[in-house]
Formats: sequence, structure tokens, C-alpha cells
Amino acid sequence: MTDQRIFNFNAGPAALPLPVLEEIQASFLNFNNSGMSITEISHRSSYFDEVINDAVERVKRLLHIDDQYHVLFIQGGASMQFAMIPMNFLSDGQSADYVNTGTWSTKAIKEVQIQNKGVKVVASSEDKDFSYIPNEIEFSKDARYVHITSNNTIKGTQFAKFPDTGGIPIVSDMSSDIFSRPLPMDRFGMIYAGAQKNLGPSGTCLVIIKKDFLDTANEDLPSMLKYSTYAAKNSMYNTPPCFGVYTIDLVLKWIEEEMGGLEKMEAFNLEKAGILYDFMDSSDFYRATAKKDSRSLMNVTFRLPDEDLEKLFIQKATDQGLGGLKGHRSVGGCRASIYNATTMEAINALVQFMESFQKEARP
Ligand SMILES: *Cc1c(COP(=O)(O)O)cnc(C)c1O
Repeated sequence: MTDQRIFNFNAGPAALPLPVLEEIQASFLNFNNSGMSITEISHRSSYFDEVINDAVERVKRLLHIDDQYHVLFIQGGASMQFAMIPMNFLSDGQSADYVNTGTWSTKAIKEVQIQNKGVKVVASSEDKDFSYIPNEIEFSKDARYVHITSNNTIKGTQFAKFPDTGGIPIVSDMSSDIFSRPLPMDRFGMIYAGAQKNLGPSGTCLVIIKKDFLDTANEDLPSMLKYSTYAAKNSMYNTPPCFGVYTIDLVLKWIEEEMGGLEKMEAFNLEKAGILYDFMDSSDFYRATAKKDSRSLMNVTFRLPDEDLEKLFIQKATDQGLGGLKGHRSVGGCRASIYNATTMEAINALVQFMESFQKEARP
């Protein structure tokens, strides 16, 4: 069965570590000797308590954070967070700073505007088609928070360093690079990540909120739309996305125990992305689209000399078991998403294919 699996470069839902999938398969009919599948167990049972508590503890250990943070699992994907953040953290007369680095940031900004709340776009890379990360940003002194998208899945750019906001809490969409590297946690009021890029199945969003930041949130909101509801009930005010939390727990265990933590994860990601970018830099056939200092370690976006060659490239790659290399429908071109779970074997197979394709196209 596993020898029929392809090298999966999908942007999301994306490749998960094979040992995690195998463990899910092996325990699917009888979870932890319960006689039930994880999808059949009550979320009020000690079986599930153990799963969710283990996931929370692993998040805290990996990020070196303590009980000053809430670790929450919320449904609705990262996109619902775009709306919940201003709902919870902006009142009349208050405003937040947003950095616009692409499609996802643009959507986050739109959700503040829909609610008629205060938003100031303090920096944008739209002038150059979102191909870079702005630096030396000047933030508003009275900003309630600063929102950034740490990794831009579609354009293939990533904040290499987080901006100095002078103490204003950063709220970051980390959907496509969560747990790919260590984080300076003292800068963040909140981090959120839709699971389907680097964590698990779609439908679950991991939210990490600093308690003193949450203490300042609006309370006059519907129960399911305020963070304090989730925080008060260990994410189980209603039925949580049990299978998602379970898979995330296994992925976190894999990062801790197989990969050796976030420093090692980052070194591995640097090595993988480095191989691809170095290869493209040495070629006059493939061109990486992101500005060098803004290149993403997770989503490598690139172009070929023309669109017909790109079509043929994607087709031939698919035929040879290299999937998901088509760029996002809004930008075209090619994209190799190489998240935590992408193996060195997959990277080497991709570079080998790129070399031979180039030779065939330009003998
Ligand atoms: C995929 C993605 C989203 C959207 O996630 P959903 O879970 O589909 O809402 C938001 N932000 C970033 C950076 C993403 O990569």
C-alpha cells in the first residue's frame, strides 16, 4: 500500500508524516484498548481527555510556554479566526495594525472592515505583487494588536524574523508554518493555524492565546465566537473536532520524539528548502519568484520560461508520481509545498525530475 503513495507537494490539505498515518491506521478500530474507534469515543470520556490534554502539553513543551497561555482547538478553519480576532479584541474607538503580504492577509483585513472596526494597513507588498516581506515597518503607538501572516502560502514568502512592535502584541496567522521553527513567544498575543498544512486534517484550527491578552477581550459576544468560552472549557464547550485533535497530537509527538523538537525541525526545513533554492539559483531555466530575503521554507514558488512548459512540467511530474506542483489558481506557475512532513527523499526526487525535465526541454 505505502509503495503506491506519491511524493505529495500539495499546499493544503498536505502531506502528513507516514508514521502518523500508520499509527492512525493501526489503532483506528480499537483506540487504546477501548474497543472503539477514536471517531466513536465520547469527548467526555477519559480516553479523549487524555488525547486533548496530551496535545496541549506537547504544544507548550515544543514552544517552551507555560500556563500563561491557553491552547485551544476551534472549528471553522483559519478563515473564521479572521473574523473572531477583531470581534474579540477590537471595541469602538480602537484600531489594529495589519501587514498585508498577500491573499490571506487581505482576507483578514476584509473581515475587520466588514465589522466596521478600526484597521490600519501599516505596510503592504502589493506594489511588487506580494513577492517580498516589508521590513522597517512603523507601527501605530495605540494599536490594539499587530496582525501578520508569518508565511504566505500562495506567494511563497515568509517572515524570516518577526517585526519589533515595541511591545504591541503580535497576532499571527501561522497556518502554513506553525512548528516549522522555534518562536520568540514573548512577542505574540495570539497565534493561530488551520491544521491542514502542517498539523493534521482540515476542520480544526489551533489557537494559542496569552492569558493576559485574552483578559482584555470583549465578552458581549455569542458563546461560540468568543475565545473565553473555549478557554474556560478546555475547548470542549461543545463537541470538539475529536479526530483532528487526535491527529494533531500524533503529529506533535512525531515532531518531539522523531524529529527532536523545533530547533531540529528548523534545521531540517532549512536544508530541504536550501537544496531546492540552490538548484534553481544555479539554473537559467527555473526562476524562484520570491525575493531572496523573503523566501519561504515551506512553499517554494517558481516559474519556467513559459506557460506551455509549465503545463508540461506539471503533467510529466504527475505522471512520475510527483503531485501537487501546480501554483495556486490565482497566480499560476509552479509551487512545491515542502512542509515538516516532506522527506529528503521527496526533495531529491523533485530535483532529479527538474534536472531531467530541463535537459529534455533544452537539449
Ligand atoms: C490555508 C490558509 C488559510 C485558510 O485556511 P482555512 O482553514 O481554509 O480557513 C489561512 N491562512 C493561511 C496562511 C493559509 O495558508
